[in-house]
Amino acid sequence: MNLLKQIEQLIVLQKVDSEIYELQKKLEEAPREVSAIKQKLETQQGQQAQVEEKISILRQQEQKLNKEIEEDNDRIKHSKNKLMLVENSKEYHAMMREMDNLEKTNRLREEEKVAVEEDLAAQNNLKASLDAEVDKLDQELQEKQRHLDEQLQGAQAKLDELHKKRQAATQEIPQPILSRYEFIRSRLSNPVIVSVDNGVCNGCHISIPPQSFLELQKGEQILSCPNCQRLIFWDNHFTENGEQN
Ligand SMILES: [Zn+2]
Repeated sequence: MNLLKQIEQLIVLQKVDSEIYELQKKLEEAPREVSAIKQKLETQQGQQAQVEEKISILRQQEQKLNKEIEEDNDRIKHSKNKLMLVENSKEYHAMMREMDNLEKTNRLREEEKVAVEEDLAAQNNLKASLDAEVDKLDQELQEKQRHLDEQLQGAQAKLDELHKKRQAATQEIPQPILSRYEFIRSRLSNPVIVSVDNGVCNGCHISIPPQSFLELQKGEQILSCPNCQRLIFWDNHFTENGEQN
């Protein structure tokens, strides 16, 4: 069979293989996007749990302060009532001191309460923005997951079709040449067969030696690029569609 005809068939096969290659690359990358969002969501949910824990502690502190303030206020009120009944001044002064102390303690508690409430407000704000972020990511995740499922289904159908096309393409190619192609395909990244354009290999983008280029132009055998080992053809022999000129 005409050598250029064989190369032409290899170019057809290469086109199918490139499509398979691109599709498989997409299929590998697609779930990565989903798992990246999943990971981001889990991080945010972790922060959300931490903030909720802080809020719960601050609320307990607030309740405790309120209770203590109320109890001491009751004590002060009680002492004030008792003050009227006191007869000696020593007891009177002792009670006044006690009331002073209670009032001082409560003032400190009120200050602490203000600080706790400020903290609480800040944490609540943080929680609100985290909640919104988590909701957004959750929605994005569901959408991407749905999209991925559709993509996978579509890609699988397309892959089946391409494998049929590949099967048909290989049947046209003489066995030894197909074996050479498959051998290279199993060892190098796509593509297997590339054009040489102005003496430069389109697989590795390095000039091939002038002697090899002359051989290539004769079109008497299927050559490999001395640098990357891919099968090469002279682009002047073929049109852009891979048909013989
Ligand atoms: Zn090369």
